[in-house]
Amino acid sequence: MTRTVALLGSTGSIGRQTLEVARELGLKVAALTANRSVDLIERQAREFSPRLAVLYDETAASELRKRLADTKTEVMSGMEGLLAAATIDEADTLVTAVVGMIGLEPTLAAIEKKKRIALANKETLVCAGELVMDAVDRCGAEIVPVDSEHSAIFQCLQGCRGRGEIKRLILTCSGGPFYGLSYEELAGKTRADALRHPNWSMGAKITVDSATLMNKGLEIIEAMRLYRLPLSQVDAVIHRQSIVHSLVEFRDGALLAQLGTPDMKLPIRYAMTYPYRAQSPAEPLDLLACPPLTFAAPDEGAFRCLRIAKRCAGAGGTACAVMNGANEEAVGAFLAERIGFNDIPALVETALSETAQVSAPALADILEADRAARESVRRHIKECRG
Ligand code: MG
Repeated sequence: MTRTVALLGSTGSIGRQTLEVARELGLKVAALTANRSVDLIERQAREFSPRLAVLYDETAASELRKRLADTKTEVMSGMEGLLAAATIDEADTLVTAVVGMIGLEPTLAAIEKKKRIALANKETLVCAGELVMDAVDRCGAEIVPVDSEHSAIFQCLQGCRGRGEIKRLILTCSGGPFYGLSYEELAGKTRADALRHPNWSMGAKITVDSATLMNKGLEIIEAMRLYRLPLSQVDAVIHRQSIVHSLVEFRDGALLAQLGTPDMKLPIRYAMTYPYRAQSPAEPLDLLACPPLTFAAPDEGAFRCLRIAKRCAGAGGTACAVMNGANEEAVGAFLAERIGFNDIPALVETALSETAQVSAPALADILEADRAARESVRRHIKECRG
């Protein structure tokens, strides 16, 4: 059970919902961090009175320091601030709701402190899964996934006696806003088209990843690392209704699934209350009112990011870190309307072919792979635009 949380990424979609859950469960908040949203983090700090508030951006942090001068909250900035928040003594649980590679080092630091990690930052496991899971085993820390699919699997595995009983994990995938389109039809899709997700309301980066299906690719890798299973035992199926949040197939042929309305507060709440379940104010799923549940195979020919992710998942080493770094950079450029939709997989492919891969990487190799991948994407975008 969580009593006090430190929250990385408090102003994003998962961060705001985590604070709603904290309010509902009466949890204390020891630290809040964000990138540069001064107004929102100030309001959050005034409500939850954390000992520490961090803005990654230095200028924004000095502004926040002035505004919170009348409170007991200390203000820090940069990676130093994120590390201090992740390892703050008062918190028993770290919620990592930041997007991207920036979450890696603070997560590792919190694992060393034996905290429960409520993991909503999938890039951490994608880029450095082996490193993170080895640290978890060595330090006796605990990871409870917040990503809805991985939370569903985690819930289905309660009572499972060992990995040998699992035949495969089946991640469900909404298909995103472009389900059914061909590769050629995807070419003209814009930022606004991609940000119209049919079922889930999420941040911009993950919504674009859901449109390219890179999100499912990242989640396949996340599941492989979290449950130490090979690619051959992790599958994805398209399930347009987002009601079955994922399934586990066991060796005796039983399939267990977790169902519910698409509401991120359920997996967040479970990550806080595990191994217990708390009363929820949300309306439960009404089976009699819900639409027919359908399942289909994803189209990896049209959605090339999924195929690339599976290839990298099989390759291991720094391949996933290169893929993730290139994807983050390319999605940023797509959101800034500097590249087209199909340029995202193309730039990721190019970065993979240009960047040297390292097997059994240390943290420094992973950070270097990430840097080189981003550099490759930036260079190609610049060359194409003259
Ligand atoms: Mg998910």
